[in-house]
Amino acid sequence: MEIIVLTGAGVSAESGIPTFRGNNGLWENHRIEDVASPEGWERNPQLVLQFYNERRKKIAEAQPNAAHYALAELEKKHTVKIITQNIDDLHERAGSKNVMHLHGEIFKSRSIKNETVNYDCPGDINIGDIAPDGFQLRPHIVWFGEMVPMMETATHMMHTAEIVLVIGTSMVVYPAASLLYFATPFSTKYIINPEIPEMQKTKNLIFIQKNAGEGVKEIVERLME
Ligand code: NAD
Repeated sequence: MEIIVLTGAGVSAESGIPTFRGNNGLWENHRIEDVASPEGWERNPQLVLQFYNERRKKIAEAQPNAAHYALAELEKKHTVKIITQNIDDLHERAGSKNVMHLHGEIFKSRSIKNETVNYDCPGDINIGDIAPDGFQLRPHIVWFGEMVPMMETATHMMHTAEIVLVIGTSMVVYPAASLLYFATPFSTKYIINPEIPEMQKTKNLIFIQKNAGEGVKEIVERLME
């Protein structure tokens, strides 16, 4: 069976990486527009680099949780494709092989002039760190207001899904939130979130009002039978 998994910040919450909508719209005490927008970068690139340097360290110390491991286990029986909004690498570290990062990856960097080439980035990026093309390096993260280059591929992936799991996403960050509606009406769609997101009506929608750790394990056990 082909299973598409859409994940957001909530899937990593039990690994100790905070979501931001649960924190008055702040991301680790910063306004989103200051640290995750092209305007924020123009205003204060130093602050933006420091913010992601801190996130990178915290994410490196975090460990995958039961939800990440259960999704990796699901690959033993099914074709599983994960489309994540997360910038962390916890799906990969849990063993998932097919992971697409819609909003970029914290352990990659790119030049401010070229979004198509990215580089491994295990440590800090500082002002004056230059990419091979001679321009300043920045995190390989899609900020609010920037294009989501993987969106078209992700949309096509949805068409063939027989089951869709939507885990830990508030379904308010567009265009990622629109992906669910590209799945066929015949596919079964499970929404796993302790707070059921407000969303458009669509066929075959099943809500599981639980934390990712518990809810995903439950669904995966069912799908492995
Ligand atoms: P969000 O912060 O808008 O919403 C998080 C959702 O997770 C909420 O609906 C909340 O109810 C749910 N949630 C909280 N705890 C949960 C748990 N234990 N189990 C399951 N669900 C839980 O997140 P979003 O919709 O993914 O939008 C996030 C944007 O923020 C993305 O673009 C992403 O790049 C960025 N972000 C990423 C990370 C990360 O990489 N881990 C962390 C914070 C923010």
